[in-house]
Amino acid sequence: MLHIGHGYDVHAFAEGRRLVLGGVDIPHTRGLDGHSDADVLAHALMDALLGAMRADDIGQLFPDTDPAYEGADSLKLLSHVATLARELGYTILDVDCTVAAQAPKLAPHRQAMRENLARAMGVPVETVGVKATTTEHLGFVGREEGIAAWAVALVEEG
Ligand code: MG
Repeated sequence: MLHIGHGYDVHAFAEGRRLVLGGVDIPHTRGLDGHSDADVLAHALMDALLGAMRADDIGQLFPDTDPAYEGADSLKLLSHVATLARELGYTILDVDCTVAAQAPKLAPHRQAMRENLARAMGVPVETVGVKATTTEHLGFVGREEGIAAWAVALVEEG
């Protein structure tokens, strides 16, 4: 039985924060605000996987009121979700992600993001797609107020 899941996340830019996307520390004037490392790409991907598993979403699994997740490495949380998937009898077949950011340029980091996400999930890198786009200066992404990410996941049950 095949299942698909979809995930979406947004984090706002803030001064004095790291910019971590797909586990890659990207040099930029600002980073993303959040309780964890605010890796918006990893968060969207986790919600896609959890959605395909019809499980709790990441807000329920890793509440931002829990001090355990303060500054958390989102790749570790992603590993936890992939382990949970395996324990529940799901195989992660394919995932694809889109990150919308006006700046900085993300294309040079796409391959490293794919490798990090694949390693965290324990799947081949060919299984993981990561694309980046701007929004042509439109909306909150275009005004460089934050970064949005979407992900879809295809999993097999049983
Ligand atoms: Mg998030």
